[in-house]
Amino acid sequence: MIQIKDKADCCGCTACASICPKDAITMEPDTLGFKYPKVDLSKCIDCGLCEKVCAFNDNYDKSRNLKEPEIYAARHKDIHEIETSRSGAAFIAISDYILENGGIVYGVGYKDHFRVAHKRATTKEERNEFKGSKYVQSDLDGIFRQVKEDLKQGNTVLFSGTPCQTAGLNSYIGKKLRENLVLVDIVCHGVPSPYIWRDYLAYIEKKYKNEVVKVDFRDKSRIGWSGHIESFIFNNGRKVESRIYTDLFYQHIMLRPSCGNCHYTLNSATLL
Ligand SMILES: Cc1cc2nc3c(=O)[nH]c(=O)nc-3n(C[C@H](O)[C@H](O)[C@H](O)COP(=O)(O)OP(=O)(O)OC[C@H]3O[C@@H](n4cnc5c(N)ncnc54)[C@H](O)[C@@H]3O)c2cc1C
Ligand code: SF4
Ligand code: SF4
Ligand code: SF4
Repeated sequence: MIQIKDKADCCGCTACASICPKDAITMEPDTLGFKYPKVDLSKCIDCGLCEKVCAFNDNYDKSRNLKEPEIYAARHKDIHEIETSRSGAAFIAISDYILENGGIVYGVGYKDHFRVAHKRATTKEERNEFKGSKYVQSDLDGIFRQVKEDLKQGNTVLFSGTPCQTAGLNSYIGKKLRENLVLVDIVCHGVPSPYIWRDYLAYIEKKYKNEVVKVDFRDKSRIGWSGHIESFIFNNGRKVESRIYTDLFYQHIMLRPSCGNCHYTLNSATLL
């Protein structure tokens, strides 16, 4: 069964917990809110599936890779889509195509009070919440099984996430259901701690004595592409900009330990 001895060896993709036939694995948060698999030994039948499915190593499935990568630069034709996306809005163009053809889109939005999590969308309105980078590791609880169920029902599914999340899903889904699954991974610098984000939001609300109703991890509205600031809108309509969280992100001091051991990039720290 899966046993994490070094935190850098687990990206938290949930593939092992999703595949376990006995539901013996739960994803438990550590003190920073990063989740790791925990096995209930009384339920485990030692089938070995959890170890087999883990793609966070150099032997992950590369069977669909092209010999040479094909690289295109693209930006959306609609400037409004670019303004409300983090980069050139390629995600919106690809996911529009999937939705317009009756497919389902999975991406990263919010649950509860700006808790960053993967969600399912069948309409453009639901999908629009996924626009924009959320610089926090997303919660994937239950998502991989939901994707598999959608594929079994004959749906086309687009899943977007970090490279380690798409690799984990690819491994979990397996070859039989893979044809109707479109994977879109982001250029990934690393994912920050969910609890630091939660506590930072609480600090901002305490400092400004108001509840945050909108968050933008990289607000392009005033400074465009030239800089990187986060912004918050409060329920009294006031808007505040800050660089505290952004600076912590670029100092690499709140990233998941596995991001320093990433198998999906040559050196993630150079991808600024
Ligand atoms: C944690 C993180 C690190 C990044 N590091 C880099 C970097 O080093 N260099 C760089 O050029 N760009 C980086 N980006 C930006 C990312 O590559 C762009 O968002 C991407 O290029 C898509 O741009 P877009 O305009 O098409 O869509 P956007 O509107 O920018 O992004 C929407 C897409 O991002 C996904 N997404 C949002 N938040 C998360 C999250 N927390 N985890 C997984 N997926 C998420 C959504 O599901 C959706 O598919 C990072 C983004 C994130 C979330
Ligand atoms: S070995 Fe099998 S039963 Fe045990 S935790 Fe892993 S997947 Fe579950
Ligand atoms: S990387 Fe994914 S599959 Fe591997 S142990 Fe961690 S959560 Fe499980
Ligand atoms: S840097 Fe690598 S391990 Fe970290 S979130 Fe991105 S893809 Fe996953």
